[in-house]
Amino acid sequence: MTVGNRAMSTDSVGSGGGYHRGTGTADNLRMIEDACDHSVIERLSEHAWRDRIPISGSFAITHRCNFSCRHCYVPLQDRTGQEEELSTKVVTRLLDECAEAGCLYMLLTGGEPLIRPDFAEIWIHAKRKGMILTLFTNGSLVKPEVAELLTDWPPFVVEITLYGASEETYGNVTGMPGAYKAARDGIERLLSAGLKVRLKSLITKSNRHDLQAMEDMASAYGVRFRIDAALFARLDGDRTPLSLRLTPEESVQAEFANKNRSDDWRRFYSEQERLPSLLPEDSLYDCGAGVMSFHIDPKGRLYPCVMVRTVSGDAATEGFCSAWLRIVGGMRDRRTPADWPCKSCEMRTLCGYCPGFFEFESGSEMVPSNYLCRLGQNRGKIIRETCGSARR
Ligand code: SF4
Ligand code: SF4
Repeated sequence: MTVGNRAMSTDSVGSGGGYHRGTGTADNLRMIEDACDHSVIERLSEHAWRDRIPISGSFAITHRCNFSCRHCYVPLQDRTGQEEELSTKVVTRLLDECAEAGCLYMLLTGGEPLIRPDFAEIWIHAKRKGMILTLFTNGSLVKPEVAELLTDWPPFVVEITLYGASEETYGNVTGMPGAYKAARDGIERLLSAGLKVRLKSLITKSNRHDLQAMEDMASAYGVRFRIDAALFARLDGDRTPLSLRLTPEESVQAEFANKNRSDDWRRFYSEQERLPSLLPEDSLYDCGAGVMSFHIDPKGRLYPCVMVRTVSGDAATEGFCSAWLRIVGGMRDRRTPADWPCKSCEMRTLCGYCPGFFEFESGSEMVPSNYLCRLGQNRGKIIRETCGSARR
């Protein structure tokens, strides 16, 4: 799929490699690509792009979670339920409004979405609206009744985050005894039910020693596995997660340690070289955020993407359509300054360019992230050394 200047066509790379876009637009666009025939995707996306139809969204229906990972971007007080979240009635009303506005692909995420006692009601409601659904979960709450629900009302895919490959690593990362077994039981329940599952992991200083074992686990299950290491600060600015972040060099080393992943990177790179941009040259964002995709948080605030906090609307009170128009206008106005360093940067297709990420790093969408720059340089170096074709 061509969106802006990005191609979403590799299994483990995502959009510039960003699992940090784990609840972002790239995942939804990959979902569209997987779900449809290529020519249908092209037509759908061009139409959505041209007419600013919010064809793809993610909805964090809660920020609560049964795990308490230090690396998580959700602020601590939100995870424990001290912050109010939307009622079932408002969640389902928002789903109705999204569907009416043209949303076909919806990602339900959290926090841990299965923690909501009304999850089944929300899921069935979205299915009845005809949406193609993806679920992001840590897997530990996939009890028999959840597997039954998903068998009766199938997802397009369930993506489960792995936090390690042993009870010990899981305990260190998630703070929950028995989490590893619970997650594995959940994965196996879904696979036994014949449902499509993918695994992924956020690689940090706490679990990098388990990377190979996680890969082996995914391969034993016969499912896709992808990684990311680009941790970012919490939504309230708390920078605790960054203390667990691998250096860009370590992160790239992990990415290219696996043959499938390094092949994916090379393929992604060569595809990017051929793609024309559908956006004006001076657009700050070159993705689908606020153009054809969106993110809703547990309080009903609408954003162009989970990574973009500078433009928002209140979908819960003003309604989805009105908030969407606000988002579209805000993103349309986002232009680069004349001396924008990323504009002619040779690493742009490899660094995971995202002004939303810049904002989390530096407090400004206009200040490129040194972390991403180094990721790009390191990826470029390896591709150049191994293929000899990377002009960057
Ligand atoms: S804002 Fe960033 S994370 Fe979101 S879709 Fe765009 S590039 Fe991806
Ligand atoms: S300057 Fe850095 S962040 Fe900007 S495109 Fe280049 S490598 Fe990416």
